[in-house]
Amino acid sequence: MSNNNRPKRLIIIGAGLSGLYAAYLLQNHFEIVILEARDRIGGRILGTPDGGDLGPTWVWSHHKATLALSRELGLTLFPQFTNGDALYDGVSGIERFKAPPSAPSARFNGGISSLTDALYRKLHAVTFHFNTPVEKILDSGGEIIVQSSQNSFHAEIVISTLPPRLVANLSFTPSLSPLILSQLNRTPTWMGNSAKALITYEHAFWKEDGLSGFAISHHGVLAEIHDASQPDNPALFGFFHTHRSVKDSENAIIDQLTGLFGPKAAHPLRIDLKDWKKDPYSSCVLDQKGLSEHPHYGLNIHAFDEKFHCIGTETSFIEGGYLEGALQSASKLAQQLLR
Ligand SMILES: Cc1cc2nc3c(=O)[nH]c(=O)nc-3n(C[C@H](O)[C@H](O)[C@H](O)COP(=O)(O)OP(=O)(O)OC[C@H]3O[C@@H](n4cnc5c(N)ncnc54)[C@H](O)[C@@H]3O)c2cc1C
Repeated sequence: MSNNNRPKRLIIIGAGLSGLYAAYLLQNHFEIVILEARDRIGGRILGTPDGGDLGPTWVWSHHKATLALSRELGLTLFPQFTNGDALYDGVSGIERFKAPPSAPSARFNGGISSLTDALYRKLHAVTFHFNTPVEKILDSGGEIIVQSSQNSFHAEIVISTLPPRLVANLSFTPSLSPLILSQLNRTPTWMGNSAKALITYEHAFWKEDGLSGFAISHHGVLAEIHDASQPDNPALFGFFHTHRSVKDSENAIIDQLTGLFGPKAAHPLRIDLKDWKKDPYSSCVLDQKGLSEHPHYGLNIHAFDEKFHCIGTETSFIEGGYLEGALQSASKLAQQLLR
C-alpha cells in the first residue's frame, strides 16, 4: 500500500503467460493495468478454435510450476501420442523406424490457450487495454509514465514482460545503461525464428497405418512433424521453413505430407499457419537468424530505482524459454514485490 492506503498502481506491459500470471499473483495487492499490443491475450500462446496450438504444444513432467498451476485452474492434460513407427525422409528416400523414447511430454485438453484463458477469467479487478503497443517509458522522478502512440499511463511500478530484444527497442528516458541494453540485445527470443503449420484431418489415418505421426524430413517445407490431435480433432503439426506465399506453402505442405503419409494426406479439412518470425510483437530483426541450441537464459533487469522490472520467459534462470520459465519469472518478481 502507498502512504494514503490506496493500493499502488502497477502497469504490466504484455498479456502473455508471464503478464497474466504476474497479475493473478499481485491483483489483491496492487491496482493493475495491463497494456497489450495485440487484440488478444496469450502472446506466444495462440490456439485455433478447436484446440489446436500454433505456439507452444508441450509440457514436461519436470515443469512443476506449470503442472501445479494447471491443477489449480482445473485444467487436464493428456500424453503426447507417440505409439507406432516414425518416418525419416533423407538421401535414401523415406524410411520407417522406431523412434527412441524421448522425455514424455503432455498436452492440454483444449490446447495451451486453455491455460491463458483460465488465468484471464481469474483476473477480477485488472484493467486491460488491447491494441496498445507501448513505445516509450519515462521516469518522471516520481511515477513512471508509459506511452503508446495514443495514450499515456502512470504507475508507481512497471513490469515489462516483452522478449528482451523488444524491450531494448523501446524508448527510455533517461536511457537504460549500455550494460542493460547489451544484456537485452544479446538475449534471443525463444522460437522467435519459428513458423508452425497445423494440418487438421477428418481421420487420423497415420494411426490406422501404425504410424505415430512423427517424421523428420530433409525434403519439403516441414522439417519436423508430430501428431497434434486433440481427442476429437485429428491433426498433424510441423515446423516450416519457407518464404513462399500462404497458398504456395499450403500446396507444398500437402505435397510433402502426401509423399510421407500417402494419398489420405491429400485432403486436409484445414491448414493453419503462423509465422512467428514475421510477428513484430514476438520477434525482431536480430531474431531472424535461427538458434543452433537452447540458449542459457536468465536476466536480472531492474531500472529507475526499482520502479521498472523485466520478467518473461527469457529472463528466467529456471527453464528459460519455456512456459515454465514464464511462470517462474513472474512468481519470482511477485515474491520480491510482496516482500
Ligand atoms: C512455435 C512455438 C513453439 C513453442 N513450443 C513450446 C513448448 O512446446 N513448450 C514450452 O514450454 N514452450 C514453448 N514455446 C515457448 C512459450 O510459448 C513461451 O515460453 C511463453 O509463451 C512465453 O511467455 P511470455 O509471457 O514470457 O512472453 P510472450 O508470450 O511473448 O508475451 C509477451 C507479450 O507482450 C506483448 N507485447 C510485445 N510488444 C509489446 C509492446 N510494445 N507493447 C505492449 N505489449 C507488447 C505481446 O503481444 C505478448 O502478449 C514455444 C513458442 C513458440 C513460438
